[in-house]
Amino acid sequence: MNIVLFGAPGSGKGTQAEQLCQELNLIHVASGDLFRENLNNETELGKLAQTYMDKGELVPDDVTVAMVKERLSRPDARTGVIFDGFPRTLPQAKALDQVMDEMERRIDGVLYIKVSDEEVVRRLSGRLICRECQTPFHKEFNPFKRCPFNKCEGEYLYQRDDDRPETVRARLKTFHNQTEPLIDYYRQAGLLAEIEGEGEVAEVATRTLAVARGLVQA
Ligand SMILES: [Zn+2]
Repeated sequence: MNIVLFGAPGSGKGTQAEQLCQELNLIHVASGDLFRENLNNETELGKLAQTYMDKGELVPDDVTVAMVKERLSRPDARTGVIFDGFPRTLPQAKALDQVMDEMERRIDGVLYIKVSDEEVVRRLSGRLICRECQTPFHKEFNPFKRCPFNKCEGEYLYQRDDDRPETVRARLKTFHNQTEPLIDYYRQAGLLAEIEGEGEVAEVATRTLAVARGLVQA
């Protein structure tokens, strides 16, 4: 089974991906991890990606797609994967379809974890990070004035620039602009399932798992 997981920043998508992988014995293919791995191991694709990054350019889709293809060809990915952070654009989605065709595999479903923009802003803009140990806290859900850990006792919790409300709104705008054509693409293909992403993490996990299990039976 191969699943694509969508969700805005702050939707809890990464957490849901981990849980689904455990429950369904799938491999988590997160584009960020894949990039780091190729760069750290200095693979041919990693070195190629680095040449673009050194020039301050975006890594072209064909390099990203080649990394994904290489990951899919490893034995552990045979039972199935969850794509997280990829595809991000319509051309990437089409390239993924082609790769899957070549490998005689298919995407069984696309799960979109939906969280309202207001909720994302509330979650992310409340986040505070310890300057010393980088542990995240939350103004509302996990409030501390200073880091409570004995070994750390960092004096300052601070807000990352990325988490300022105006930045979060800009990130959401980018997400919607990039993702909407993809959502339509997968909806037309009859693959899209939308999941209510607000509420307790465990509840969202139950809903997500139920939808994913439904794909196996379909
Ligand atoms: Zn700390």
